Amino acid sequence: MTSATAPAPSLPTPLGGTLVRRVWTPGQDFDPAELRALPSVELSERSFADLEMLATGAYSPLTGFLGEADYLSVIEHLRLSDGTPWSLPITLPVGEEEAGRLRGHLGRRVRLTHGGAEVGTLDLTEMYAARHALEAREVYRTGDEAHPGVAALYAQGGVYLAGPVTLFAVPRGEFARHHRTPSEVRGVIEARGWQTTVAFQTRNPIHRAHEYLHKVALELVDGLLLHPLVGQTKGDDVPAAVRMDAYETLLEGYYPQARTLLSVYPAAMRYAGPREAIVHALSRRNYGATHFIVGRDHAGVGSYYGTYDAQEIFRAFTREELGIEILRFEHTFYCQSCAQLVSPRTCPHPSGQHLVLSGTRVRERLRAGEALPPEFTRPEVAEVLRRAYQS
Ligand code: ADP
Repeated sequence: MTSATAPAPSLPTPLGGTLVRRVWTPGQDFDPAELRALPSVELSERSFADLEMLATGAYSPLTGFLGEADYLSVIEHLRLSDGTPWSLPITLPVGEEEAGRLRGHLGRRVRLTHGGAEVGTLDLTEMYAARHALEAREVYRTGDEAHPGVAALYAQGGVYLAGPVTLFAVPRGEFARHHRTPSEVRGVIEARGWQTTVAFQTRNPIHRAHEYLHKVALELVDGLLLHPLVGQTKGDDVPAAVRMDAYETLLEGYYPQARTLLSVYPAAMRYAGPREAIVHALSRRNYGATHFIVGRDHAGVGSYYGTYDAQEIFRAFTREELGIEILRFEHTFYCQSCAQLVSPRTCPHPSGQHLVLSGTRVRERLRAGEALPPEFTRPEVAEVLRRAYQS
């Protein structure tokens, strides 16, 4: 609630104290047209998403792709070398041949392209060998190449380029209406006068368990930042455009408009479970959230992680270090006897009364043209999904 006497919201400080901003503005430092003669590096979809996350401050305090000391420190200690919590190596991989071509440019600026278009620059301070096996074991907790994050890791080049980046323009992309940088999200939170904001990460179509978490959280805090990840996901995940459609539809009918903000999170999905949960939370602090939801198997895939590993891992940090409150939720589902959404904490009935559908099962049903039960998904969302899968 805001009123004339409500204090101005005090948003959390970004991690590291200042919101990083490395988006080029005209007149700044250099003119992109002058850079044509420099060597270029073509970015994958994931690296381009990382570039945006870095340059807009979503990954504050990082100002660029990690150097070797930070890379190893993150892998081994869940911290940057200065002790700041950080859990995923944000690196820029290239192959050996390309690395050879770039070696003479160490200490200089290189151009970054994506799909052949100029998108930014990297001040190349370091090049070093990736430790794929170590990264897989420590970050993904498995060397199994069936894990999509591990598969992506092994498919990429073995040399990492490091240094501060500049992004020429924020790529607003296909969700322009919902695309906001961290400072823009902070602006909305301030304008709405929310003292507390809970952020929700998701890569799946919204279902009623999600809605339950949102609404329980909204009983506790002022605003809800619905922050679906729209960067690269694995091939069989529901496409971002369909998920955004579902969100828009549901928000219209079932959410308090003035207390909800739908905005996209442009990062690529790593499926690193617990490790990814930490960056998801720290990054949402940079976007201005005071609270972050972590439910069951957050950012997990298959059965690589324990149901609550992504909640446990936060014990590695103090509250002050995190600077964002973690709202932990147990597995939530519909119970026929309670006739409502519940969790093991609130429901006394046996599992036979519970409707639990895995993401895989939902996709199977959709592909087979079968309806999703209303206890699992609101009919409006089921209809969006049905249409998408039929076409
Ligand atoms: P991801 O965590 O990979 O983005 P989802 O979109 O499925 O995947 O989940 C979004 C958030 O909601 C996560 O924090 C997850 O733990 C939580 N969540 C999803 N489904 C449930 C559920 N049935 N019960 C409790 N938490 C859930």
